[in-house]
Formats: sequence, C-alpha cells, structure tokens
Amino acid sequence: MSIQIPCPHCGKRPLEEFAFGEIFDVPESITDPDVRDIDRAFMHNNPEGPRREAWFHTYGCRRWVYLTRDTRTDQIL
Ligand SMILES: [Zn+2]
Repeated sequence: MSIQIPCPHCGKRPLEEFAFGEIFDVPESITDPDVRDIDRAFMHNNPEGPRREAWFHTYGCRRWVYLTRDTRTDQIL
C-alpha cells in the first residue's frame, strides 16, 4: 500500500502525486554562502526518526505541504 500524504487542500492523496523536498538545516557556523549552498545540495542528513519534510503536490493543487514523518516507519505524525 502506498503512503498517503494529507494535503490540506485536496485531502489524503497517494505519494506518487508529490515531489519530495528535504528541509535543510545548515549549521550557523558555516557563513560562506558558497559553502552553505554546497552543504545544502550535497550534505543530506538522512536522519532516523521523526523529521520535518516538504512535499510539493505536483499532480494536485501544486502547493507545498509541510509535515513530520517518522523515517523508520513512514508514519506521518
Ligand atoms: Zn493538494
């Protein structure tokens, strides 16, 4: 069974209708803009457990949906 993403505009919709966008936390200690961009593009955290995510409803309302998902179970909290 596919994961269902709760879109506030369209209701629960299948994962396949969305594009994933990771919310990045670049450390404040990195101040060089070029290094921050490299960190944002290539240094993904891939954490285990709950994390904030952004999903773009590509085949629906074409709006961003922000949610918290547990990466161990794919449960949306
Ligand atoms: Zn939607």
